[in-house]
Amino acid sequence: MKCKFIIYRFDPAKDTAPHFDEYEVEAEPSDKILDCLNKIRWEHDPTLAYRFSCAHGICGSDALMINGRVELACQKLVMDFKTANNFVIEPLPFFNVVKDLVVDLKPFFNKHRRIKPYLINPDAPPDKERLQDRQIQEFIEPALRCILCASCTASCPINRVNENYAGPAALLRAFRYVFDPRDTATDERIESLNSEDGAWGCRTMWWCTDVCPKGIPVTKCIGQIKRLIKEKDKLKNALGEYMEDKNV
Ligand code: SF4
Repeated sequence: MKCKFIIYRFDPAKDTAPHFDEYEVEAEPSDKILDCLNKIRWEHDPTLAYRFSCAHGICGSDALMINGRVELACQKLVMDFKTANNFVIEPLPFFNVVKDLVVDLKPFFNKHRRIKPYLINPDAPPDKERLQDRQIQEFIEPALRCILCASCTASCPINRVNENYAGPAALLRAFRYVFDPRDTATDERIESLNSEDGAWGCRTMWWCTDVCPKGIPVTKCIGQIKRLIKEKDKLKNALGEYMEDKNV
């Protein structure tokens, strides 16, 4: 079948403003959108820029907007769309465009680094490994599926009003560590998440959960961080009242 692709084009090195180019592609209903982009680049226009690597939903590098919604180009087939003959392809929203469909993800990875996405434990490691409790592993497992594709952060409207907001992907990674008993920096992590730039920036709009290509309940995980912060506060307040009563 013939499909029309209307694609966002912008080269900051020579264009003064973005524009859209149209391409006609012969595609099978079972072709991935990424296959169509490859066809356009290989057969029509080698200057078209976009990112991809594994092409199987693992590397997360080909997230972009397809017909107004953030998707992975390698996970969506032509037949997944009702308007199967017409596609509008745009770069991820919110991030600056490097060229065409390629965006600058530095701010995304900087926020990710900010939450210290690694196990903190100054104790000497045991002979074999730091064993994980099975139930806790199941609890934090959704966060381990994250492929850092940035779809959630690009879709989150809070990023547009607070550029310091950590964003859903970074908070999801923080969730993975605050609930891991092998990590000893829980208090320090909770402290830094207890702000509008952290967990309280989330307004529970569910857009992150809606677009996540890995089906991760991102909003719920952020909710668990909020609950933990509240419970810690409750404990602190109860302790304060007790000390007051006892005149300690
Ligand atoms: S949580 Fe989902 S949408 Fe967000 S970066 Fe991870 S895989 Fe992508």
